[in-house]
Amino acid sequence: MKHSSQNKKLQCAVIGAGIAGIASAIRLAARGHTVHVYESHSEPGGKMRELKRNGYRFDLGPTVLTLPEHIDELFHLCHKDPRDYINYTKLAQPFRYFYEDGTIINSYADSSRFAQEIESKTEDSAKSLHAFLKNVEEKYRITKDVFIENSLHVVKNYFRREALTGFIKLRKIEPFISLNSAHKKYFKDSRVIQLFNKCANYIGSNPFVAPATLNVIHHLEVNLGVYMPTHGMFDIVHALVALAKDSGVTFHFNSKVDEIVLDNQFARGIKLNNRELPYDRIISNMDIDLTYSKLLPRVQKPRRSLNQPKSSSCIVFYWGMSKKFPQLNIHNILFSSNEQAENDSIFNKKTIYSDPTVYIGITSKHVENDAPSGCENWFTMVSAPNNEGQDWNEIERIARANVIAKLNRILDQNIEPFIELEYVSNPVKIERYFLSAKGAVFGNSSNGRFAAFLRHPNFSSRIKNLFFVGGSVHPGAGLPMALNSAKIMEKVFK
Ligand SMILES: Cc1cc2nc3c(=O)[nH]c(=O)nc-3n(C[C@H](O)[C@H](O)[C@H](O)COP(=O)(O)OP(=O)(O)OC[C@H]3O[C@@H](n4cnc5c(N)ncnc54)[C@H](O)[C@@H]3O)c2cc1C
Repeated sequence: MKHSSQNKKLQCAVIGAGIAGIASAIRLAARGHTVHVYESHSEPGGKMRELKRNGYRFDLGPTVLTLPEHIDELFHLCHKDPRDYINYTKLAQPFRYFYEDGTIINSYADSSRFAQEIESKTEDSAKSLHAFLKNVEEKYRITKDVFIENSLHVVKNYFRREALTGFIKLRKIEPFISLNSAHKKYFKDSRVIQLFNKCANYIGSNPFVAPATLNVIHHLEVNLGVYMPTHGMFDIVHALVALAKDSGVTFHFNSKVDEIVLDNQFARGIKLNNRELPYDRIISNMDIDLTYSKLLPRVQKPRRSLNQPKSSSCIVFYWGMSKKFPQLNIHNILFSSNEQAENDSIFNKKTIYSDPTVYIGITSKHVENDAPSGCENWFTMVSAPNNEGQDWNEIERIARANVIAKLNRILDQNIEPFIELEYVSNPVKIERYFLSAKGAVFGNSSNGRFAAFLRHPNFSSRIKNLFFVGGSVHPGAGLPMALNSAKIMEKVFK
């Protein structure tokens, strides 16, 4: 059966030029619709922004790229060669992990080499790593068709052959045990368990609570690989905006949408600057909580979905370092000495632990021009609770001192004198700047067993012609998932 939208040219408004908003615009333009994107800021990208200052360039948001084929797919849809717009390198040695006991473990794109690294530096064997990687690959295969690339909220999807096979194998994706418990089945060395538990923090969740299904992230990262665009992560925004414009999409910057105009149960347009603009279809890339509270104030809220706990947030110190640190890689994780206490601090005590896990991303190790000669651009991040009115100035001050103390210990030198430039982001800034509820970086938390089922669908069952994309709705946050939300939106678009 053909949807009416497949035959008719529709006028579509996308609210927000985050990655999912841009991807949605490209998908709808490729189908022949007229698309206008309204973005409240002066630039596209949303959480994927860049900062250029005093010879340094920083990617302010995402630093780790997996599944670049989701980006390439958008170019293929428009019959363009992605390599005319963007190029990526697969990183041979993506991560370096540091522990307080002096252990340093490198991950390798070559899984046999990674397995050897684990065997030579820990109490676990190469065989355990291979068995684990096989397990996460199978989990990805099962979940991909059931909910990563399809709506969980369309009944007919449950009767597709692939979905039925997926549901029969549901036990294998381990939704009822925690990540930490699943990892203990494969590994005995606490350093290795901590290394794999970290995937929960990537999506703002707690590895002692979040379901083991989430370790599919390691399939993406280890089996499929971590990539870096030629000029850093912001290349993705440049390339997708260029593709959207080449496909006929119109962008309106400094254009904050104030309301979605309704006529009974139909979305009929948007309101900005006291003007009503009629549209046939509206796609909101705004945080789902705020879409309801700000743009649809008179619509009954889907409380079950919106009341789910939010993911954690983060504090990021963007540091221009007047020196090179050869002991660091592009992506570095310096682990806390007490993983359980750290997660307890973030998710229960709502503060940052005194010995936090620190992520340092340094794109200048890959993109020479990202820092002046002899210098490095450090993206130094610690997980933080979401904003519940804490004294962030004080938390930030203490976290900065603790991060520096940890780096001094592990790198065996005083790094503070080399910080020649500093810009800091925290949960309040994330909440205000990106209009992200409670400053959550990844929408709802994935801590609950049914979290995947409780994310808001990519369409509204109450209001016709209204769709939702981005990290706060199904299938979740992170670039691959946000891009998938646009893909699912296109599947349910009518
Ligand atoms: C510090 C940090 C590090 C991260 N690291 C990674 C990583 O390494 N890898 C990874 O895959 N992901 C990472 N993420 C997550 C990733 O950035 C997000 O999941 C993804 O970018 C979300 O995209 P989105 O489409 O939901 O839109 P958002 O980025 O949330 O953008 C929404 C856009 O809508 C606009 N908007 C909102 N309301 C309105 C309105 N009323 N009118 C007009 N415009 C409006 C906003 O201004 C914004 O531009 C990170 C995020 C952060 C903050």
